[in-house]
Amino acid sequence: MGKLFGTDGVRGISGTEFTPEMALRLGRAIGAFYGPGSRVLVGRDVRAGGDMIANAVISGLLSEGVKVYYVGMIPTPALQLAVKRGPYEGGVMVTASHNPPEYNGIKVMGPEGVELSREEERVVEEYYFSNHASKLEWRSLTYSVEVRHGIIEEYVDTIVGHVDRDSIAKLGARVVVDCANSVSSLSTPTLLRKLGVKTLSINCHLDPEFPGREPEPTPDTLKEAAALVASAGALLGVGHDGDADRAIFVDDRGVVHWGDRSAALLSYHASQRWDAPKRVFTGVSSSTLVEEYLRPKGIEVVWTAVGSVLLARTLWKEGGIAAFEENGGFILSPHQHVRDGAMKLALMLDLIAAEGVKPSELFSRLPRYISKKTKVKATREEAACAVEGVKELFAGYRQITIDGVKVFGEDFWMLVRPSGTEPVVRIMAEALSEERLNEVVNKAMEIVQRCKGGRQ
Ligand code: MG
Repeated sequence: MGKLFGTDGVRGISGTEFTPEMALRLGRAIGAFYGPGSRVLVGRDVRAGGDMIANAVISGLLSEGVKVYYVGMIPTPALQLAVKRGPYEGGVMVTASHNPPEYNGIKVMGPEGVELSREEERVVEEYYFSNHASKLEWRSLTYSVEVRHGIIEEYVDTIVGHVDRDSIAKLGARVVVDCANSVSSLSTPTLLRKLGVKTLSINCHLDPEFPGREPEPTPDTLKEAAALVASAGALLGVGHDGDADRAIFVDDRGVVHWGDRSAALLSYHASQRWDAPKRVFTGVSSSTLVEEYLRPKGIEVVWTAVGSVLLARTLWKEGGIAAFEENGGFILSPHQHVRDGAMKLALMLDLIAAEGVKPSELFSRLPRYISKKTKVKATREEAACAVEGVKELFAGYRQITIDGVKVFGEDFWMLVRPSGTEPVVRIMAEALSEERLNEVVNKAMEIVQRCKGGRQ
């Protein structure tokens, strides 16, 4: 049987790869999975083809006797919160998240708003590849689509309710927000206003061509936001991805910080604020600084394989205060068990207000590592060989081997893992000195080259 779902939903180039025919068939498969009479909330981000795909998916759901509620454009975490709270058996979000503008896709959620498990995805795939069609008799097709309003407002108010609004307002802060021209435009500026924060927004008009920047928030794509923070004397900057479930911060000096750094600070803050098990979950691609910062504070760090759905489901099942990724995904357990970019922003402001210090001072509490990320073309066998080689060479070190191999040294860490989405082996490393960083990365590169038999 074929595989339809990647690590985070189904993705393809809108119109040519992700066609309305495919969306209809997928809608039928998802509808069969939920079953007739179930209630499903459907939303979309700003992307081209969003309504084309949403309407085809809705048609498929209706053909399986599902009752459909449509919210139009909405951040993914807002849809997920509504699914969790509302009378829904599931949710479907039409989005390709952080992918380049030409992509679209869908994420499928269960009744708790959490994306389906791999086992559940397999059931949907079985229906899809067997061209399932229930062909219900006409009387079963009486449901009409109900349009839902007010969901984004409820979402924003819920987030405001989680933090100390008055202390945040007293900061008198200015915050730069870069909405990536997508659905965070509908929520984050409103959230900041309700928190009493003056907002300087860039790329916060909806535009499916993403004229401002690529939808993935990175130090590179957030250059303009960072420059604006510095020139406008703002306290903080934030950049979201295409469906607003991630947040990457810029400190008051205009420095962009990867998501594991902010998540380490926020996890400790959240553990002080909420009564939840003192445990966090993060993918092996996060920096070991997370452990160095949190463990002395009595918070256990559990390393998992890479993937946001796995993280969400592990936190949900095992319990803890948070789960997060270096790419900006942050799951706050007392709020909901999915990544939420706006919640992460509100929590960051809450931390700044509680400590009364600038973000640059907060980030300076973390160990200073120099990072390197690279990838090398490799077949599955070559990647596996490289992972084995690194395991052997660094046999004397603490290792985690749940997803590639992660090596923990005194003054460095390194992850070598086969990519889940492309034929490459990824090497990520951090060290306290440039020299050490180059030394360990070069060792890994030699092993990769040996496994490739000298091929480039
Ligand atoms: Mg996303």
